[in-house]
Amino acid sequence: MKLHEHPTKLLAALAEGSARIMSATIRFERGRWFVSFTVEQSLPELTPARPDAAIGVDLGIKTLATISEGPPVENPRHYIQAQQKLARLSRRVSRRRGPDRRSGQAASKRWQRANAQRNRVHHHVADQRRDAIHKLTTRLASTYATVVVEDLNVTGMMSNRRLARHVADAGFGEFRRQLEYKAERFGSRVIVADRWFPSSKTCSGCGAVKAKLLLSERDYVCKTCDLIMDRDANAARNLVALAVAASSAETLNGRRADQKTRVTGQVAEKRQPGTASAPQARTPSPEGAGV
Ligand SMILES: [Zn+2]
Repeated sequence: MKLHEHPTKLLAALAEGSARIMSATIRFERGRWFVSFTVEQSLPELTPARPDAAIGVDLGIKTLATISEGPPVENPRHYIQAQQKLARLSRRVSRRRGPDRRSGQAASKRWQRANAQRNRVHHHVADQRRDAIHKLTTRLASTYATVVVEDLNVTGMMSNRRLARHVADAGFGEFRRQLEYKAERFGSRVIVADRWFPSSKTCSGCGAVKAKLLLSERDYVCKTCDLIMDRDANAARNLVALAVAASSAETLNGRRADQKTRVTGQVAEKRQPGTASAPQARTPSPEGAGV
C-alpha cells in the first residue's frame, strides 16, 4: 500500500521481528482514507514516574480538567473557535451543485473545491483536539500510580443541548478510553468514582455534603467549616481522598491488586495487572493517511 505518511516505526519493528501485523482496517473519514494496523508486539514494562502518587481529575466544561495538583488544564477550544469558519465554508458548499445519488447528478468542480476546503478545517480541528487529549492522558498515566476520575454520564449530558456541544468538544469518552489503555502500559491504575459520588457537593475540608450546588456557583463555600475554594479544585481533592480511602481499604482486606472491588459503595475500581507479561495487542491511532 502506498501511504502518505511513511510508517517508519512500524516498518522498523516488523524488520527486526518484534511486531506482527494482525489486521488492517481501512476507513474513509472527512474526505481522507485511513488505514489502521492492529499489531501484536511485546512492549517494555514501564512504571509511572511517581509510583506513590495519586491524583484526582475532575473533567470539566470550562476547563478540560482540574487536577488536584498543579494548574488546571485548559480546554482545547479549537473546535468552537473554528466553528464560524466551518459554518462559512459549509454555507459555501451548500450553495454549490453537489452530488445527488437519486438524479445521478455529479458534483461540480466548484462544489468539490469548497468541500475539500471544509474537510481540511474539520481535520485540523479534530487533530488538535486529539492531540490535547493524548498529551493529557499520557502525562497522567506516566506520572501517577493512581488516577481517580469521575464517571461522567456523557450520554445523559448529551440530552442537555446547551451542555452537549461543550461536552462533545472536550471529548470525555475519548479521554477515559485513552487513560485506561495507557494506564495498563504503565501499570498504574484508574479508579472511576461512581457517577453519584458527590465530589462537587462534598467539602474537602470537613466532609460536609451540600444538598444542592448550582452549576453557576464557581466557588465552593462551606457553611460548616468556612472553607472557600474553587469548585473544581474542591472536587479534585475529594477524588484523591477517595483514592487514598480505596487503597487503604484494600490493604486492610489484603486484597490482590487485580480484583475488582467496590469500596464503601462509592468506588468502582479498575485495576490493571502491574505486569506486561504477555505480548499485548495494540491498536495504534490512525497510522499513515492517504492511500
Ligand atoms: Zn467544610
